[in-house]
Amino acid sequence: MTVFHDLLRVQEHDSAADRLRHRRLTLPELAAIRELEDELAGVEATLVDVSARAADAARAQRKLEGELALLESKMAELDAKLYSGAVTVPRELQAMQAEAEAMRVRRAALEDEVLESMGVREPLDDEVADLERRRSDLDAEGGRLRVAVAEAQAALDKELAEALDARVTASAAIPDDLRTLYEQLRARLDGVAAAPLVNGRCGGCHLALPATEVDRLRKLPAETLVRCEQCERILVRP
Ligand SMILES: [Zn+2]
Repeated sequence: MTVFHDLLRVQEHDSAADRLRHRRLTLPELAAIRELEDELAGVEATLVDVSARAADAARAQRKLEGELALLESKMAELDAKLYSGAVTVPRELQAMQAEAEAMRVRRAALEDEVLESMGVREPLDDEVADLERRRSDLDAEGGRLRVAVAEAQAALDKELAEALDARVTASAAIPDDLRTLYEQLRARLDGVAAAPLVNGRCGGCHLALPATEVDRLRKLPAETLVRCEQCERILVRP
């Protein structure tokens, strides 16, 4: 065993930690939350718009109903006057009857308008109710996903802490200059600074070394630092 074998173990723990960090950032639940939040934003925007239209429709209906109620009370007053016997002048009676008839026509028209306004308002109310249900479903689903993310992240954090602990132990005997070289290569070479030499191949770039080079490396003292000529990684001989 040389410090290079220690370095290979450090590399394994670092790679494991990198994979755990990557998984932490790419949990499927996180993607689901982003999708859900997009949909929620859409639902809320639609809800604002449809609620405003439903409120307008309700106001229009109340206004017509108010007009209808007022008209009906005027008709009742007129009827009472007509049948009270207080008015006896035929011309006056005729005028009152004509007015009553005009009011009946107006009432029929208003009743139609009230029905029409209900026809506009009811589907809007239904739409508001549907959107509110969807929003509450999405809120509940979002809550479930956030719990799942927290649980998954806690489990990954535990594994990550274990990997980092193991790395500390494995790196204890590595001299500072080798450690510095390792960190520089790791930063530059996609997180992999040290690779085993297996069957004449670099475990980092997978290039097969020429037989003469393999032979030369085999003869070097175990404590000599060896680098892959292709990818520059630290090669750890068996
Ligand atoms: Zn290589």
